[in-house]
Amino acid sequence: MGVNRNRIVVKVGTSTLTNELGNSNLRTVEELSLTLSDIQNKGYEIILVSSGAIAIGAQKMHLAEKPTELRMKQAAAAVGQCENMFLYDKFFGYYNKTVAQILLNADDIGDEEKKENLANTFEALLEQGIIPIVNENDSVSYKEIESDEKIFGDNDMLSAVVAVLCRADKLVILSDIDGFYDKDPRLWKTAKLMKRIESIDETTYALAGGAGSRRGTGGMRTKLQAADIATAQGIDVIVTNGKDPRILYDIVDGKETGTLFAAKKV
Ligand code: ADP
Repeated sequence: MGVNRNRIVVKVGTSTLTNELGNSNLRTVEELSLTLSDIQNKGYEIILVSSGAIAIGAQKMHLAEKPTELRMKQAAAAVGQCENMFLYDKFFGYYNKTVAQILLNADDIGDEEKKENLANTFEALLEQGIIPIVNENDSVSYKEIESDEKIFGDNDMLSAVVAVLCRADKLVILSDIDGFYDKDPRLWKTAKLMKRIESIDETTYALAGGAGSRRGTGGMRTKLQAADIATAQGIDVIVTNGKDPRILYDIVDGKETGTLFAAKKV
C-alpha cells in the first residue's frame, strides 16, 4: 500500500517543549502551533506526536526535580498531559484549528483489532481537518518510562509506528540538535552533520551516543530505530532542530535540512 502524499507526522521531544527550568517553552509551542496550522492550510494533513508530559507535570506539581519513582512519574504524566493539551488547544485554537488527543501504548498497536480501530480514528480525524496530538499513555504503561529497552524511547519509536499506521509520506523528528552527526557533537567538536543516509546498519548505530540533555530521554539511538522502521515502509524521515519550528516550511518545500533518512522503495 502506498503512502498518503500530503500526510506528515511531526514528533517533538521534551527538550524542545521545555526550557532549562523544565517549564513549558511557550514560544516554541506557539510557533509550532502556528507553523503546523499554516502548513495544514496549504493542504497537508498533520499528526503531531508530542512528549513532555512528565517534565511539565513535575514542574506544575512543584516537585524539586524530575521524579524517579514510577508512581510519581505516572502522576506527573497525568498532570503534564493535561497542561500540554490545554496549551495546544489554545494555541492551535488561535488559528481556528481543532486538535484531538490520542494516548497509546505499545500493546495497542500489537493487537489487530485495536490497531484497526486506531487507524480508523486517525482517518476520521484527518478527514475532518482535525490535528491529532499523540503521546504515550504514561499513566497506564510503565514500559516506556521504566524499562531499559524504552520501547518507544521518548516517543521516537511511537512516532514511527504512527507514521506507518497512518501511511504518512514523511516523519519529521524535531530534536535539540541539527540532525544526525558522525559522532556525538556534544562530546566531539569535530563531529560532522550527515545530510543524507540511505541505509541504517550497525555502523550507523555505533555513531549514536546516549541522550544529550537531561530533559530528553531517547537520544539518537531511538531516532535511528524510528528511522529504520519508517524508511522500510517507504516513509522519508527527517531529523532536525526544533528550536525554530519554522524549519518545517523548508521541509514541506523540499529544501535540504537536518538529516534525511531516505525512504526505501516499497
Ligand atoms: P530529544 O528530546 O530531542 O529527543 P535527546 O536528548 O533524546 O533529545 O536526543 C538528542 C541528543 O542525542 C543530542 O542532543 C546529542 O547530544 C545526542 N547524540 C548522541 N549521538 C549523536 C549523534 N551521532 N548525532 C547527533 N546527536 C547525538
